Amino acid sequence: FNVPTPVNEPILDYAPGSKERQLLKEAIAEARSKQLEIPMHIAGKAVHTDQKGNITPPHDHQHILGKYSKGDSSHVQQAIDAALAAKADWENLAWEHRAAIFLKAADLIAGPYRYKLNAATMLGQSKNAYQAEIDSACELIDFLRFNVSYMSDIYKQQPPVSSKGTWNRLEQRPLEGFVFALTPFNFTAIAGNLPTSVAMMGNVVVWKPANTQIYAANLLMEIFKEAGLPDGVINLIYVSGPVAGEVIFNHADFAGIHFTGSTGVFQDIWKTIGTNIHKYKTYPRIVGETGGKDFILVHGSADVEASATAIVRGAFEYQGQKCSAASRVYVAQSIWPQIKDLMVRDMATFKMGGTEDFSNFINAVIDENSFDKLAKYIDAAKADPAVEIIAGGGYDKSKGYFIEPTVIVVKDPKYVTMCEELFGPVLTLYVYEDADFDQVIEIIDTTSIYALTGAVIAQDRYAIEKASVGLRNAAGNFYINDKCTGAVVGQQPFGGARGSGTNDKAGSMINLLRWVSPRAIKETF
Ligand code: GLU
Repeated sequence: FNVPTPVNEPILDYAPGSKERQLLKEAIAEARSKQLEIPMHIAGKAVHTDQKGNITPPHDHQHILGKYSKGDSSHVQQAIDAALAAKADWENLAWEHRAAIFLKAADLIAGPYRYKLNAATMLGQSKNAYQAEIDSACELIDFLRFNVSYMSDIYKQQPPVSSKGTWNRLEQRPLEGFVFALTPFNFTAIAGNLPTSVAMMGNVVVWKPANTQIYAANLLMEIFKEAGLPDGVINLIYVSGPVAGEVIFNHADFAGIHFTGSTGVFQDIWKTIGTNIHKYKTYPRIVGETGGKDFILVHGSADVEASATAIVRGAFEYQGQKCSAASRVYVAQSIWPQIKDLMVRDMATFKMGGTEDFSNFINAVIDENSFDKLAKYIDAAKADPAVEIIAGGGYDKSKGYFIEPTVIVVKDPKYVTMCEELFGPVLTLYVYEDADFDQVIEIIDTTSIYALTGAVIAQDRYAIEKASVGLRNAAGNFYINDKCTGAVVGQQPFGGARGSGTNDKAGSMINLLRWVSPRAIKETF
């Protein structure tokens, strides 16, 4: 069978007066008017408990969107049992039937659920309409459709060579056991992708989203169900990390983890898996996308307008809470005055507030922990005479967790905020002498503990080549004359190395191959 050739889902722009804007506004109003009771989903059943957690928009923490049921270790065990019980039927189902379920899920998101899912992301994760459109609707639709196509390529690949008297085959078996998917708050598309890419390859999944993502995750689960996902294939639980980990990482059938989140948590998980390695039937697959400290390097030959736009959009879209966000920038002295003026001019037009008002470009950061951490870094910068804050610097959590987009200019390229991951709308910028371009490349490389995304902006081809070679290992996604965010499924497979992850490229065949365990079969006649 041939699956449809995937094309990227067209992005709606929600222009003022458009029908789509009206429909999205209605979906937001509808979501705000209700208080949902959000259950876990185990073995296809809604599981409610007496322990509840509130879901509030980060930009409006007095409003309660819903209450979710918190689980304990018994629910983790039930989710594993349900997954293992579903395994035999699911893995024996012909792949085209699995494909049909995920293609239907993509169509449901592209059609009837588009506005509801975007509204859920806008309210639950404080993301503006355009960012929600690209990352909850379109990117997830793309993940589903492109992955189905890569899946079919895997199953239909050329068989190994056979010589006379033999028939050699390669069988792509699902993993032996269950896979744990741990998803981050910042992308609804990632929430959908991590469990489905695993399940697509015939595996069963226990899925735990970040608490700040439960609102959209619950809706995704309902969509997968409507698309025909059989009970128990993906089980969604809301349990604290340590409690879930205690059960999962001690289980003999633990076969892999698909993770996006912080470097620290991933490293702890890896250590736990290492300690427990003798308990498992098979070496678990460990696939993770973790932190980032992504850079933009602006050469003296760069177009100043393009540079300012790349910096501002790369740093501040979704409040800098993309793993790919630009958080350290290096600008050549000769063009810095022009770029600075353009940045300050652009940033002066930013409006900050709730996502319900579509004119707000900047919304809240995800939660109080993030807010407090960012405020501390800003305070430290304010108190340091060696650095200058040229934009922003304000914050206020009285209504929501609002941090003004802030630019800190430093004289030391190894200054603390040039090296540590902040994960918010705080950008640090270093101005270098044009003649020091080579040294700056070396500094970027040696300070790249992470290596997720990076960009060079230049018109001089020698400069582009130097940066491209010198920063080869400093980013898994490297951009020339563009911002360092916004990878598109099927166009720029996404992932980084060093402290940024295992670089198994989300939305690619490389990733899907981690979820199968091939068997080579030789038959002699
Ligand atoms: N794929 C997204 C981008 O290119 C980032 C995903 C993430 O934050 O993990 O901007």
